[in-house]
Amino acid sequence: MDKIFRIKRFDPEKDNAARWEDFPVELGPHERLLDGLVRTKEFTDGSLTFRRSCAHGMCGSCAMKINGRSRLACQTLAGDMPELVVFEPLPAFPVIKDLVVDMEPFFEKIKSVMPYLVNDEPLPSRERPQSPEEMEKILDSIRCILCACCTSSCPVYWGDKQYLGPAALVKAARFVLDSRDRGGKARLDLVSGAHGAARCHSIYNCVEACPRDIDVTRHIAILKRQTLKRGLRGAR
Ligand code: SF4
Repeated sequence: MDKIFRIKRFDPEKDNAARWEDFPVELGPHERLLDGLVRTKEFTDGSLTFRRSCAHGMCGSCAMKINGRSRLACQTLAGDMPELVVFEPLPAFPVIKDLVVDMEPFFEKIKSVMPYLVNDEPLPSRERPQSPEEMEKILDSIRCILCACCTSSCPVYWGDKQYLGPAALVKAARFVLDSRDRGGKARLDLVSGAHGAARCHSIYNCVEACPRDIDVTRHIAILKRQTLKRGLRGAR
């Protein structure tokens, strides 16, 4: 199966602007696009730059824009793509080189919502238990691999870089919904500002882009409801 990989390239040491370069690549229908990128780097152009790590959809490193959509190169089969495959860096983040973007603004947003369990109560003799029903509430959001496919697909984030974005809001919801966590009020304060959950317009690009099939918009809606309830209570 012959493909043309059209790759948006940018080398800050040589280029004034991004440019396109085409590479012919042979791939079996069950091979992943990441295999083609690795082969291109190994045998055609060693300067081609992209991130990858686990190559099995668990680390999120190879997130990039492929044929107009943010997705993981390791989860996209050659047989599911047309002959021309267009690769671009993830939208909405500064480009470092070729398909590598600066993820720092993304992780700053994640850090800003306290992405950890808060509980100052005395430690139990074993783990802090959860019932199956309590666990059920966080089963979807704990599968997030922080790939940024959702945030990079969000038109609200494209227009407002201060917006927390879908991934940070999913992370906030993951702990707000955790029965063991005691930091819910502080976390709801963090997501209730002008650039928080209420900024979401329910466009659903995030849901479509998520490689872990997380219902991102549902989690943001939960935060919207909870921040609204708190606001109403405060107004009384
Ligand atoms: Fe990636 Fe989905 Fe997590 Fe967003 S919610 S960072 S798309 S795994």
